[in-house]
Amino acid sequence: MTRRSKPIELRDELRGKGMRATPSRIAVLDLLRSVNEPMSHSDVADRLEQGAWDRATIYRNLVDLAEVGLLRRTDVGDHVWRFEAIGSEHEPKSHPHFVCTECGTVECLPETSVAVSPAKTPRAVRQREVEVHLRGLCDDCR
Ligand SMILES: [Zn+2]
Ligand SMILES: [Zn+2]
Repeated sequence: MTRRSKPIELRDELRGKGMRATPSRIAVLDLLRSVNEPMSHSDVADRLEQGAWDRATIYRNLVDLAEVGLLRRTDVGDHVWRFEAIGSEHEPKSHPHFVCTECGTVECLPETSVAVSPAKTPRAVRQREVEVHLRGLCDDCR
């Protein structure tokens, strides 16, 4: 289920966060909302290539949007920051990710797909300050 926000709503959301609603910020947020999966800076830059913005601008936009809480940064262990949209449908809290060891695809998993036993885990895990990443082969690579 993908519900795309209209650019005008995105503009209001950016302004609501005290940011200037520049066309590149709107495009970056719109893209990440529509794919609803984590994307790296180069993924985003490749997709927005026909736009008038250079990669450095897009990177700054990603960082800025993450700072105000519209995006979340995640590192699935390959030292590449991936960004995903936080919205009403995508919980702001951390959720597990699946990483394909063959093609590098990253997918969001439902929070309930990984159960931790509260009694046996460090406090940080109970407070969900730790990110969970599952590794394996995706359907395409199997
Ligand atoms: Zn794969
Ligand atoms: Zn995710």
